[in-house]
Amino acid sequence: MPLFFFGVIALISFMDIYRVQTEHLTGLCQKTKEAGMYAYGTGSSGAETVTLPDVYSYQPIGGLIPLPKIWFHNTVKVHAWTGVLYEEGNDAVESQPMVYVTESGTVYHRTLGCSYLNLSVQQVSGSSVKNLKNTYGEKYQACELCSRGQEPAGTVYITKKSNRFHNRESCSALKRSVRMVKEAEVSGEMSACGRCG
Ligand SMILES: [Zn+2]
Ligand SMILES: [Zn+2]
Repeated sequence: MPLFFFGVIALISFMDIYRVQTEHLTGLCQKTKEAGMYAYGTGSSGAETVTLPDVYSYQPIGGLIPLPKIWFHNTVKVHAWTGVLYEEGNDAVESQPMVYVTESGTVYHRTLGCSYLNLSVQQVSGSSVKNLKNTYGEKYQACELCSRGQEPAGTVYITKKSNRFHNRESCSALKRSVRMVKEAEVSGEMSACGRCG
């Protein structure tokens, strides 16, 4: 009888682990896809790869037996979206100018260097960042790209939509919130930027 009991617990634990892992993987894939979408604006290298790690632990259920936590480590790799390349000299294609938009912006920009695009990045003191929360009520944590495992520097850089702080202003993650879209897609609902457009 005890043997049967433990068998059932083992089976339930196994199914629970599977469920937790599936949830994490689904979320991770989604995050990675978004990162890939937003990564194209950052570098000139065409085949940039984005890797997102995901580490989490699983505590087996049925606290009767003191089993150790199990740690999972998933990584998902995607290619940065490099946009669509059009053949030069194709008339139909040249009538599709691309513009840049931000996640929360109400105008579109013709140049990536427009000073307006940098405004979504805020500069705050490192000592205050631990008390700040982003738009979604999340606390800020160290950016994996520029500040992995580091404490906030004297001055850190944050955006309201992400939950990472950056010790380096030049961090490529800070530029990911800019998306490139076809002008035709946004011109109906957005107006051109007054500074560059
Ligand atoms: Zn602009
Ligand atoms: Zn960073």
